[in-house]
Amino acid sequence: MNTELQNFIEKYDLYGCIQCGRCTGGCPVTVRTNLNVRRFVYDSIDEDALEELAKLPEIWDCTACSTCAVRCPKGLKPLEVLIGLRGILVLEGQVEPTVRDALESIFREGNPWSKARATRSDWMEGLDVKVADPETEVENLIFVCCTVVYDPRVQVTVKNLVKILNKADVDYAFVGDDESCCASEAFNLGEEELFEMMVEDNTELLNSFKAKRIVTISPHCFNAFKKQYPDLKAEVLHYTQLIGELLEDKKLEFTKELPQKIVFHDPCFLGKQNDVYDEPRFVLSQIPGAELVEFERNKERSLCCEGGGGKMWVESDSKLERLAETRVKDAHALGADVLAAACPFCILTLDDALKAKGFEEEMKVSEILEIIGDLLEE
Ligand code: SF4
Ligand code: SF4
Repeated sequence: MNTELQNFIEKYDLYGCIQCGRCTGGCPVTVRTNLNVRRFVYDSIDEDALEELAKLPEIWDCTACSTCAVRCPKGLKPLEVLIGLRGILVLEGQVEPTVRDALESIFREGNPWSKARATRSDWMEGLDVKVADPETEVENLIFVCCTVVYDPRVQVTVKNLVKILNKADVDYAFVGDDESCCASEAFNLGEEELFEMMVEDNTELLNSFKAKRIVTISPHCFNAFKKQYPDLKAEVLHYTQLIGELLEDKKLEFTKELPQKIVFHDPCFLGKQNDVYDEPRFVLSQIPGAELVEFERNKERSLCCEGGGGKMWVESDSKLERLAETRVKDAHALGADVLAAACPFCILTLDDALKAKGFEEEMKVSEILEIIGDLLEE
């Protein structure tokens, strides 16, 4: 057996697989693509199969939702076999230009969106924002996320977060100009070397502040910091957990009514991967006049929107309905006025799906911060 294969088998514990098929059974994208993740786990053991498997287009259909890992009775991470196969192509330079550009941009500019590093803090202009200083202790160090910083559709989330933190008199500070991509998507796209380098740099930067907690806006940064940054000193929180605390402690109160029906879509990187199900619902439940309804597929059974796993930079060939469109249709069938989520990727994919389905007149897709930022008294 060649060394590359031996390493691959050991890294992903391929002999631990009992071929039960639960991974494929739980995989949400199998309904619209050819992805059969169990097959990849099994076939990767074959001598000289890796190169051929890496050429199969469905390795790019995985959204890294992690349902396969959650369902695997042997504790394997089948999705990482697919990520490992992507890694073979990354090393050979055999990736789509969109993927190559995103990875190069993370390396050069610290974000996957080909935006200038120097403009990362432009969103702060005109706002009363506290920025961290390594000499001063701070309770909550806020890490924004590249998509929130640069994408005008979701930038409102961080602006509203500032409003809320100031209003509730929270001890906080933003990382500021030196913030870089958490590199979660570099990992999922198979660029392990770049990911490791970013983990090292970001750990050094984040540990340089005297912060008790790091609070993220994106569940992708949240998941990466919690699971893939072993040397971070501070506790890691998602913003829904911080806002939940503020509401519980009566440091924050929504004073305006929102008499609308809201359904919450669980982001995979928050829910399935980190069991944060209650806090987003608790925050929404505190909105005066709002009625919270649930998808039939919610929490552990929630349907992925296909925004993760590097899918923002990879087009699927499938002509079948996108999962985000199914989600939007389900929300519409519930009679929801608002389809809420707590993740920038979910918002972008669900918003696209809303337009594709033509429901913009009847329903809105909104980030929780987008909703609650308007419910405070000025
Ligand atoms: S992570 Fe999700 S999309 Fe990827 S193989 Fe596993 S279940 Fe399927
Ligand atoms: S769920 Fe785990 S043990 Fe079962 S086929 Fe998939 S990888 Fe193998």
